[in-house]
Amino acid sequence: MKCIVCKHGNTRPGKMTATLERDETTIVVKEVPADVCDNCGEEYLSQTISAQLLKQAEEAVKAGIQVDVRKYKSAA
Ligand SMILES: [Zn+2]
Repeated sequence: MKCIVCKHGNTRPGKMTATLERDETTIVVKEVPADVCDNCGEEYLSQTISAQLLKQAEEAVKAGIQVDVRKYKSAA
């Protein structure tokens, strides 16, 4: 799709590192599949994946984790 930030580039499938912060919990998730703009580098997460990441962040908050770095794992 066309990038909505720079309006010039096109997005391509790639990977990104997502950082989620909630209260005192910080979760860094590496190798998250995302669409990345080939012009400005803007990263687009799909709704499914961002929902999964939010769920993981909530679980980490419940578990009392403060900082965690993990690789993306599909919930499916
Ligand atoms: Zn762009």
